[in-house]
Amino acid sequence: MKVLVTGGTGYIGSHTTVELLANGHEVIIVDNLDNSSKIVLDRIEKITGKRPDFIEGDVLDTDFIVRVLKDNRVDAVIHFAALKAVGESVADPLRYYQTNVGGTVSVCKAMLATGVNKIIFSSSATVYGDQPIPYTESTPREPQNPYGRTKFVSELVLADVAAANPDFCAVALRYFNPVGAHPSGEIGEDPNGIPNNLMPYISQVAAGQREKLSVYGNDYPTKDGTAIRDYIHVADLAEGHLAALQKIYDPGFHTFNLGAGHGESVLEVIVAFEQATGQTIPYQFADRRAGDLAEYYADAALAESQLGWRVKRTITDASADAWHWQSGNPNGYKNVV
Ligand code: NAD
Ligand code: UDP
Repeated sequence: MKVLVTGGTGYIGSHTTVELLANGHEVIIVDNLDNSSKIVLDRIEKITGKRPDFIEGDVLDTDFIVRVLKDNRVDAVIHFAALKAVGESVADPLRYYQTNVGGTVSVCKAMLATGVNKIIFSSSATVYGDQPIPYTESTPREPQNPYGRTKFVSELVLADVAAANPDFCAVALRYFNPVGAHPSGEIGEDPNGIPNNLMPYISQVAAGQREKLSVYGNDYPTKDGTAIRDYIHVADLAEGHLAALQKIYDPGFHTFNLGAGHGESVLEVIVAFEQATGQTIPYQFADRRAGDLAEYYADAALAESQLGWRVKRTITDASADAWHWQSGNPNGYKNVV
């Protein structure tokens, strides 16, 4: 297939592009480079021997997306492009609604204008909010912050577009906690400034770039008092998109959880990282982080039964790959010539 990958130079988009190219698909990336670098394209070529087409631009520019879809005779869209920082979404909700919901509306409009009717959308486990675990796809959606609500509203947009257009097929993949990097060490997560997320923070502590990890909360009602999440290796996540692409023929709106189906505590992640890498991670306990839930993980049975997909890699694999990427690229893609 010929696939338009929006946000394809980003963290998850780049890993998915590698997987698409490795499986014989053609890829056109559209990205405005708001949170990524063109160097990713060299790295993808290094890994796969193929260079994806790249067009710099904004998904909010519907006429531009129409031209890209028309000129390239695209078969399907994977829509990653979005803003993803929860704290920023609280401070500047309109920017998040504009880019995330507006971007989804714009891409759908361009698809309807050009007769492209297959889309895979990056949703998130954050759409569920504080609900009984494990989350199934029919668990009620009550997102707790503007970022989560932009994903929830985008899903509603896709469902309504699919209902109004009988040939339209939309698949929302609800990611749990993506971690790790490509095993080559060529591509990985490249946060700006101080990382918000656990695995990049641990990686920077291991590299000596940060003194110690703050473990947010050790008084949660969990086995060791620290919060539990369902961490999924980004390569497994990339394979989930391939599995969805192969099944994207049933018109309508479909949702799948992409997670491991079990969780690890923060302390378990630290131990896994230390064992996988031989590095010591100094840490201190700190207050709970506002808005964090004690524990959640996926019921991933639907993706297994319908897409034939399940995770193959562990948190230890993800730790080893994150460290390979971090130690080989201490500044991410920055200052690379
Ligand atoms: P990322 O920031 O690395 O990638 C997003 C890409 O989209 C970036 O390259 C950015 O430059 C681009 N982009 C942003 N706004 C754009 C616009 N208006 N036009 C064109 N390109 C634009 O993020 P990621 O971690 O790869 O996330 C990809 C998708 O997965 C996002 O939709 C995100 O919300 C979703 N998601 C991520 C996580 C996670 O923990 N990383 C979890 C659940 C869902
Ligand atoms: N966490 C932590 N210290 C950090 C970053 C994260 O203890 O520096 C914890 C956080 O409280 C949560 C888990 O690690 O329980 C995963 O956090 P992350 O931000 O990676 O993902 P989230 O689940 O919040 O989307």
